[in-house]
Amino acid sequence: MFDTLTQRMARIVKTLRGEARLTEANTQQMLREVRLALLEADVALPVVRALTTRIKEKALGEEVIGNLTPGQALVGVVQRELTAVMGGDYAGQAAELQLAVKAPAIILMAGLQGAGKTTTVGKLAKFLREKQKKKVLTVSCDIYRPAAIAQLKTVTEQAKADFFPSQPEQSVLEIAQAALDWAQRHYHDVLIVDTAGRLGIDEAMMQEIAALHRALNPAETLFVVDAMLGQDAVNSAQAFNATLPLTGIVLTKLDGDARGGAALSVRQITGRPIKFVGVGEKLDGLEVFHPGRMASRILGMGDLFSLVEQAQHKVDIQAAQQLANKVKKGDFNLDDFKTQLSQMKNMGGLSSLLDKLPSQFQAASNPLKMNQAEGQIRRMEGMINAMTPLERKKPELLKASRKRRVATGAGVQVQELNRMLSQFDQMRTMMKKLKGGNMANMMRGLKG
Ligand code: GDP
Repeated sequence: MFDTLTQRMARIVKTLRGEARLTEANTQQMLREVRLALLEADVALPVVRALTTRIKEKALGEEVIGNLTPGQALVGVVQRELTAVMGGDYAGQAAELQLAVKAPAIILMAGLQGAGKTTTVGKLAKFLREKQKKKVLTVSCDIYRPAAIAQLKTVTEQAKADFFPSQPEQSVLEIAQAALDWAQRHYHDVLIVDTAGRLGIDEAMMQEIAALHRALNPAETLFVVDAMLGQDAVNSAQAFNATLPLTGIVLTKLDGDARGGAALSVRQITGRPIKFVGVGEKLDGLEVFHPGRMASRILGMGDLFSLVEQAQHKVDIQAAQQLANKVKKGDFNLDDFKTQLSQMKNMGGLSSLLDKLPSQFQAASNPLKMNQAEGQIRRMEGMINAMTPLERKKPELLKASRKRRVATGAGVQVQELNRMLSQFDQMRTMMKKLKGGNMANMMRGLKG
């Protein structure tokens, strides 16, 4: 996700390393590079213009005075502007679905065929059921494709939600009304209505979904769109938004889109927030969208909040509590580091985790990345295994001769051991800062 943009931004920051401060000249140069990077990522032209203008104003303005290095100052400015263009940092609130107090709240899904609508209904049903303890009913208004109805039934069952079977001889409005009656009588909190998609924008389809919208008065009208379509994704969102009052956008297949232009453009062009992103075909491949976190991820600063959240969901709560206590007392040691490493392996989807780690923790970006990362974790565990219990508790004991012994024991070079120890140090420092809840500080520590 965002590979090219991330790499480009890293290069820009690197070239600024030797400079003492941001000047008119080096800012011009840097802006040209940022502009190219955004265009290459398939960001819409008006958005590229708006972004570069704002970055220029801010970079040359007072905000950078007193900052550490131009590279860091720049990353800070770019991070804030990327966040703003994706909807501002609403700390998760606006991203959440606004489900009315009156049950059932209706979520109407719109989008072109193949966008990932039906899959997203399944993901949302699972998300609402598991994370928000909602009783969810789904229904398909795609009377044109029996296979679509069957597909919705399958994903709904996988999500362990309820499915309302539609009769193809009924009209779309009759089906929706029948599902709504059923949901009311069976005390469902949420009714998700899947609709027919076409291959392109089609007048009849727009009329049909507009009529459904009038009849149902949904709490949320979500437009599902494939991020891999880049600017076309943004154009179709804009076209739908002109007919239907959308409340939000779900950007799917972000896992396959290395450019990420749609994520950066769609909010600015349509004025509607991205509420969720799809990051995989499976039903757990859905993430709540946070502009600030995404901006950090694009800049290779990592998305530590999501990482911690993901860890919290998958990791034994008791172990997490113990770890939190240790961090609080300031005695997070190499044994704990090892536990963290093995949990990383257990969490599965190592690639989705790696995406969220700051770039300096990520293995070089190539197809072997995953294997390398796994191999690296195994070697790190090997090094920790080669230490005595005392050394693991007090890594500062590891001076030259002990280091040689441990490195030989683990079959690695001393440099690799040093690298591991410094990663441990960074993690420890990061965790201390995370504990203090001071995200700004932590980010500062990771930049440059
Ligand atoms: P619909 O026609 O809009 O209902 O689209 P589907 O839900 O049938 O999805 C079309 C294809 O996209 C299917 O093969 C899905 O598995 C795939 N898909 C949907 N969402 C994602 C996603 O977030 N990531 C990936 N990689 N594939 C997805």
